[in-house]
Amino acid sequence: MKAAFLIGHGGNEAVAVGEQPIPQRNPGEILVRMKAATVNRVDLYMRDSGAGITHSLPQIIGVDGAGVIEEADSGALVGRRVTRCPGIVCGACEFCNRGEPVLCVKMSVLGEHRDGTMAEFVCVPAGNGLFVPDTLDFAQAAALGVNYLTAWRMLFTKAKLQRDETVLVFGVGGGVSLAALQIAKAAGSRVLVTSRSAEKLDRARKLGADAAVDAPPDKIPAEIMALTQGRGVDVIIENIGGAIWNAALKCLVRGGRIVTCGATIGDQPPADLRRVFIRQLQIFGSTLGNPTEFSDLLEWCAQGRLRPPIDLHFGLDEIRKALSHLESGKQFGKIAIDI
Ligand SMILES: [Zn+2]
Repeated sequence: MKAAFLIGHGGNEAVAVGEQPIPQRNPGEILVRMKAATVNRVDLYMRDSGAGITHSLPQIIGVDGAGVIEEADSGALVGRRVTRCPGIVCGACEFCNRGEPVLCVKMSVLGEHRDGTMAEFVCVPAGNGLFVPDTLDFAQAAALGVNYLTAWRMLFTKAKLQRDETVLVFGVGGGVSLAALQIAKAAGSRVLVTSRSAEKLDRARKLGADAAVDAPPDKIPAEIMALTQGRGVDVIIENIGGAIWNAALKCLVRGGRIVTCGATIGDQPPADLRRVFIRQLQIFGSTLGNPTEFSDLLEWCAQGRLRPPIDLHFGLDEIRKALSHLESGKQFGKIAIDI
């Protein structure tokens, strides 16, 4: 089968497109004929280093993806359209038993610890396949698997977002940030966004952002206070890290919640603990999500409340171009790979 895979580390030279063996399905698994995947920041990380993530080469890239079930234990499943939950779990540890498989101590993520989704066929446990509603095409369904699932868990499971609360999303244009904007709007919240790109802010407004802030980090708190009558926001969604962390804490109302799922510009920010305890701020870390959360997300899509924007489509042969486009940071929405 045709696949895009890593043959080394360090730039696009490390990525090849060619033949790989079709995975053998074990009982309890589904073999999926892939139709689309999308590229994620972690694909760039795996391409360039993969440090700290146990894996072996060659390894097929791609974390999210959607397709059609080709083989399964039950014939009734064959032909169903599915998207995949990216983490494969042990099902036996304390966290799996507690209903939080996303915390599994043996979690193995497609495209990180094992062969990924940018291939004509992928094999996963049946529980990792979730049915795709008719409202979504394959690229949109693939797009949900990392960014939208992550944003969903951050907003609802972690921050326990309530209708009529105000959410601040840093760096809109990034995959999780954009997903958080859309989901929070669909939930009935007021959403403020930041970016240094006027074009991205303009597109964020078109997706429903109530206010858009283009300012250096140290000027953002004053802007946010002006937009909230001096109160601050209830929830912050961010994945930038050190570069904006201090500014972010100053944007929160007393008792406010900040959820981080990344540290693209610095992972050791000053903690400002006095502000954290006096104002009783809550800080959450989050990454990916559970199949139950993915089901809830798909239900909203089925109801027409959410549809991920796709920036551009590339073919599997154009994977290097797609990764470069992601790296440029010019995209708005997911970059799809049609398989
Ligand atoms: Zn487990």
